[in-house]
Amino acid sequence: MKIDTTISIGVVGVGHLGNYHLKQLKSIPQISISGIYDDDPIRADKMSNQHNVHSFSSLKGLLDKSQAVSVVTPTNTHYAVADKALNAGCHLFIEKPITDNINHAKSLLSKAKDLNKIIQVGHIERFNPAFNILKKMKLNPQFIEVHRLSEFNIRGNDVPVILDLMIHDLDIILSLVQSEIKEIHANGVRVISSTPDIANARIEFKNSCVANLTASRISQKNMRKMRLFQKQDYITIDFQKGSIEEFRVSKIKPNIDNDDILVELEGEEKKYIRYHKPYISQYDALKKELSHFIDSIRNARKPETDGESAAKALRIALEIQNIIDK
Ligand code: NAD
Repeated sequence: MKIDTTISIGVVGVGHLGNYHLKQLKSIPQISISGIYDDDPIRADKMSNQHNVHSFSSLKGLLDKSQAVSVVTPTNTHYAVADKALNAGCHLFIEKPITDNINHAKSLLSKAKDLNKIIQVGHIERFNPAFNILKKMKLNPQFIEVHRLSEFNIRGNDVPVILDLMIHDLDIILSLVQSEIKEIHANGVRVISSTPDIANARIEFKNSCVANLTASRISQKNMRKMRLFQKQDYITIDFQKGSIEEFRVSKIKPNIDNDDILVELEGEEKKYIRYHKPYISQYDALKKELSHFIDSIRNARKPETDGESAAKALRIALEIQNIIDK
């Protein structure tokens, strides 16, 4: 049933990312912020004053006044908070990864189904302006190379780098490659924290596509790049810049746009390589993602990054983690 009235939404956990959730939620029309709850009362007070929203002294207090909540607490608390929110009848936006335990994820999914509540998970790259263009392209990748490198930050170290960073790319790859996984090889090293800080996984799909992913949180510079190779096509996507570049090979001279570059290859058979960098209008991906959540509630529609797809990415992430642990 479509909801036309204002939707009340609360934020649980107003640390680094919760602050941005609040900021963006305030700019989305036809919602009201019911309030916030954070285990740390000093942080809660600060965010309450900064955003002029009510800070509840208990989670229950916030849940009782909300139709939906954004769960932006550390990963190992997602399940406990999300389970209570569902019991209180709230739709759920949960930051990625959905949980750190597949049985907990399954339990949330089945409860949400029984209670007819929406779960969306914060796989934000799927709302990246560049990804929005990429998914409209004709894709059948045969090799995918990913680098998600990040400078060291004390936040996020409660989980291995696979659950913290690689999970973004696993979610994207599972949405792009329409085939089952055949085999996974993985390796990882603990450098600073007690779980892997750098990891590599090679995923082979039954349709013979191979994805090679590297994620690091101990890098000297930040990088979020994915390169897709498919027949007569090489596409590179930079999630940080929100840009795409494409090199396409053809036997027939292609039509080119103003900024395209065309290279003619002489040989037995003439070939053309067209370089194309589409114009991409930039927007705030978090606002887009949260607006999608509100629209999904309003229209009783399954969100693009729903709980099921997040649980699939989690299952693969945990498998990679297991291989590394062994
Ligand atoms: P953070 O440590 O800055 O903030 C977490 C906040 O939650 C803190 O204020 C803490 O006091 C509060 N908290 C802890 N346990 C709580 C509980 N049980 N109930 C209520 N409040 C509680 O962490 P962060 O960097 O904001 O990360 C939060 C979540 O967001 C994590 O799941 C992380 O994986 C995710 N995250 C996602 C992205 C993304 O790209 N989508 C980026 C960064 C973080």
